[in-house]
Amino acid sequence: MFMTFDADVLIIGAGPSGAVAAKLLRQRGYQVLVLERAEFPRFSIGESMLPQTMELLKKADMLSAIEQGDFQFKDGACFCAGNKEAIFDFGKQFSNGHTTAFQVERGKFDKILADNAAAAGADIHYSEEILDVDFSGAHPKVKAKDLKTGKLNNYQCRFVFDASGFGRVLPRLLDLETPSNFPSRQSLFTHIEDNIIDASYDRHKITVDVHPHHRDVWYWLIPFSNGRCSIGVVAEESFFEQYPGTNEERLKKLISESAKFSSLLKQANYDSRVNQITGYSANVKTLWGEHFCLLGNAGEFLDPVFSSGVTIAVKSADLAVNCVDQFLQGKTVDWQSDYAQALQKGVDTFRVYVEAWYNGDFQDIIFHENAPENVKDMICSILSGYAWDETNPYVAQSRRRLKVLTELCQLEFTADTED
Ligand SMILES: Cc1cc2nc3c(=O)[nH]c(=O)nc-3n(C[C@H](O)[C@H](O)[C@H](O)COP(=O)(O)OP(=O)(O)OC[C@H]3O[C@@H](n4cnc5c(N)ncnc54)[C@H](O)[C@@H]3O)c2cc1C
Repeated sequence: MFMTFDADVLIIGAGPSGAVAAKLLRQRGYQVLVLERAEFPRFSIGESMLPQTMELLKKADMLSAIEQGDFQFKDGACFCAGNKEAIFDFGKQFSNGHTTAFQVERGKFDKILADNAAAAGADIHYSEEILDVDFSGAHPKVKAKDLKTGKLNNYQCRFVFDASGFGRVLPRLLDLETPSNFPSRQSLFTHIEDNIIDASYDRHKITVDVHPHHRDVWYWLIPFSNGRCSIGVVAEESFFEQYPGTNEERLKKLISESAKFSSLLKQANYDSRVNQITGYSANVKTLWGEHFCLLGNAGEFLDPVFSSGVTIAVKSADLAVNCVDQFLQGKTVDWQSDYAQALQKGVDTFRVYVEAWYNGDFQDIIFHENAPENVKDMICSILSGYAWDETNPYVAQSRRRLKVLTELCQLEFTADTED
């Protein structure tokens, strides 16, 4: 007798990793059930996209839906520290592939992706929260609660993708969580009507500014297409203790300390609640098991400084779908090599640059007036999200290359840079 399943793959969460995985699975003809706790659109942080994400959305045939979403066009990143500026133009990068992206209100962006997956046949249940999972039998069983009616639902499937982001459903239920190597950082952020009148300000780029006295404290300014923008500040949790008051007062005080942001935002209208998120970096013991794997933030989250979160999320969806396709066809899958290590390659590239951002090495390089252009193009590729492109020496040997660059930087770039 044949077993009947509610889905080939049950996906927990309809954020970017869940929606893209659902669409890619539908392209291959699999039955997909997505259980999403929230109603869409819902707020999410993480609004600056990278070109590598667009490349992956193109593969899932979702890019044109996003292009019609009236989002803010993005073609690069501008890093500032005092009067120093390092501008990266994604058009001048080493890797092949898409060279532009968007800055997006995530409520709208995520809904477009989820609707696109649903239009391709993915069954998405909103307001349905995963309560428990059982991997002890031959096939996974999932217990969920309909948050509108209180009804408990039991599902049986052939495989589970956990795409629950910071909800981290399977890491919690299966005791997979491990601490991140990064210190606990906090972010204060909000959306404002920016009223920026500075003619030299480029809305096509994210702006990242370094605090004048603390190199590990930084601000973001992500403009949207409607005259509003996302602003935020990131620092170690303990740093914020010296800023008393409400979140809005603390954010405004910190912005007043940035010459760049206080000048750009002098006419801004703070009309929305200031939120805070703390201790978001996370890690796990394993990214997969016999009948599950962890996608996007459910697996690991590094740090927001290079806007890499959604790129890693959709890359994980792509890799996981390749593997589960083999699994569902009854073939042997090497999840460690073809999923965990393949994903980790790019995550580790970002990790090297994130570490170098906070210890100051990366800032020394990009703000150096003699930084060589060819090196800048290779670094630009990583900032565009092409962190898996091993033809780029700054990906293939990221730690060694960055160390050499830092040393050359201290020697004022008087020597050659090897290539
Ligand atoms: C301060 C900060 C700034 C950031 N800035 C950027 C940026 O500029 N660019 C960028 O690319 N990334 C950024 N990120 C990272 C980005 O937010 C995430 O990497 C990205 O949203 C991960 O996508 P995901 O699909 O894995 O998870 P999510 O987008 O979090 O989606 C997970 C979904 O699962 C659902 N869910 C959770 N629990 C359950 C449950 N029990 N049952 C059912 N559903 C559940 C949630 O409701 C949610 O819809 C930032 C992160 C932080 C903390």
